[in-house]
Amino acid sequence: ALQIITNPVYSNGEKNGAICLIIDVSAKKKAEKMRREFTANVTHELKTPLTSISGYAEIIASGLVKPDDIPNFANKIHKESGRLLSLISDIMELSQLDEKFSDEEFAPVDLAGVAVEVAEDLRSNAEKHGITITVDTKTAVINGNRNQIYELIYNLCDNAIRYNRENGSVKIITGDDNEHPFVKVADTGIGIPEKHHKRVFERFYRVDKSRSKETGGTGLGLAIVKHITERHGGEISLESSEQGTTFTARF
Ligand code: ADP
Repeated sequence: ALQIITNPVYSNGEKNGAICLIIDVSAKKKAEKMRREFTANVTHELKTPLTSISGYAEIIASGLVKPDDIPNFANKIHKESGRLLSLISDIMELSQLDEKFSDEEFAPVDLAGVAVEVAEDLRSNAEKHGITITVDTKTAVINGNRNQIYELIYNLCDNAIRYNRENGSVKIITGDDNEHPFVKVADTGIGIPEKHHKRVFERFYRVDKSRSKETGGTGLGLAIVKHITERHGGEISLESSEQGTTFTARF
């Protein structure tokens, strides 16, 4: 889209020409459209759990619920509140990614060390679902922000657990490929059909809606992963089949 601005030019009080400014506003328009869509999505995503919470609370308040059933309703309210909290924290994370850290604060980070930490932090949660996490790490040093790199690997690993099969496994691999450090998270899960590969990194895009919500997904995890990878000058890609999915962040 082009925006055209014209202004007359005067000399000695007489109009003797014009300045014509042609500005390409495509990028601005696109950014505005994305912002509008994001706001609409956020509103919808926030409204859904709030409507449930309000509904359950109203039923309890009406006195129509048998005392024995109250814990059940309270649990539902608790679960939906948890969803709201994760959603809010992911939205904050996304909106602060650009402002919170500048490249000047970047320092050497070994992806291997972060991978081991993420595996330790998620192990007990994975074992609850019968899933084993292993790491195969070689030194892979990048210049970056350690907290963001933790978040990146954590989100990939969290997905690899949530979209896995019973008794499945997750493997985190780090290394250096011709001076391009990388981290891979490979799972034995349900896979992602090819037609969704590009779109899974979009905010709120979900392949498996019910599973995402059941397992506490916000639809923002991969958008955050992509954002962090690109902030560090890297690229995120995925390979998937019915046997599982592997995400690779290469720097
Ligand atoms: P969510 O919070 O819904 O998991 P994400 O942005 O992390 O959101 O992922 C987007 C969608 O991509 C998910 O809803 C899911 O359908 C799909 N997905 C992500 N990771 C995996 C994976 N490892 N295996 C299968 N599907 C996945």
